[in-house]
Amino acid sequence: MSGIYIHIPFCRSKCAYCNFFSVVSSKEQIKTLEAIAKELTQRSAFLQDFFPVETIYFGGGTPSGIDEEWIFKILDVIFQNYSVVDNPEIALEANPDDLSPKYLVNISNRINRLSIGVQSFHNGDLHFLGRRHTAEKAKTAISDARKAGFNNISIDLIYGVSDSIEIWEDNIQTALSFAPEHISAYSLTVEERTLLDQNLKQGKQIIASEDFVEQQYELLINALNRSGYEHYEISNFAKPGFHSKHNSGYWNGAPYLGVGPAAHSFNGTIRRWNVAHIRQYCEGIANGISVFETEELSDRECYNEYVMLHLRTANGIDETDLKAKFGKKYREFFLQQAVPLIKSGQILREKTTFRIPETLFLLSDHIIAELFI
Ligand code: SF4
Repeated sequence: MSGIYIHIPFCRSKCAYCNFFSVVSSKEQIKTLEAIAKELTQRSAFLQDFFPVETIYFGGGTPSGIDEEWIFKILDVIFQNYSVVDNPEIALEANPDDLSPKYLVNISNRINRLSIGVQSFHNGDLHFLGRRHTAEKAKTAISDARKAGFNNISIDLIYGVSDSIEIWEDNIQTALSFAPEHISAYSLTVEERTLLDQNLKQGKQIIASEDFVEQQYELLINALNRSGYEHYEISNFAKPGFHSKHNSGYWNGAPYLGVGPAAHSFNGTIRRWNVAHIRQYCEGIANGISVFETEELSDRECYNEYVMLHLRTANGIDETDLKAKFGKKYREFFLQQAVPLIKSGQILREKTTFRIPETLFLLSDHIIAELFI
């Protein structure tokens, strides 16, 4: 089983905190979409040993900013060139701004999972983050998506914007009032070379302090657990049966092909990443020249990656699976490193399973680093 990721690298404006590869100009949009379609025809061999494709994911950038005809065209190319399961998960990331009732009805014919980048239901937060939409528009977009027939909706939220517990609590409750099947909640991170980074350095903006981030995360966990959501990955919560299949593939090490500028691909041992430059990408694809760089992961790197990704999930690591994949030596190393973490309560061991307790998920990076080789 495998997945396909399509990176649509265009946004109407750049959000203050964002360091994803996307450009604001739409001049080269059609050329880029043509190149993406062509890249899909050129690179099917990368996934050939891992057919059928189970998930297709339009991310970005802003996939909802492109004409729906292009989404359909790209899907047609995939179905013509790849072996795909009967009922694949086909997900699209969307900005509330783009979601008119007509657009939603149109895309609902081919897209079965909609991930809406709400981030906050408060205009103050949205302004702070540099988002284009308003809280009102976000609410209307979710309601319209339901009316259009979407029964697998994910809402993205960001916490740690300000110290206000009340605003965050209201964000959670408002999200819950729409009964989405899935909620992704990310802590605001300050990435280098973003407007937010610059503003913080110049003292023009401040974000939530660490204590408040922890309180907000705890509030989130408690509220969503009470409402029947499964906390299946650090930042992801789902009603039973609605885990993101595509993202779960990443965490479980499933192979995926990423197409479009800056998209990454992985097939278990080889990682590839496309050039993060629109013109170079389009020219390379048009001339049949590779637009990616390749790295072959060593066993050690594969092990570290496995540990990192699995421990971010509620399922954690099964030592028998670890041994089957990496052999006795790696299993013994893992067990040895885990001893002090189990003693200090940072890792929970249940039979053959090892996982980070939900309450310590926010510290997972430090805990996971102790298990790296
Ligand atoms: S819409 Fe998304 S990808 Fe585009 S700038 Fe904002 S956060 Fe980044």
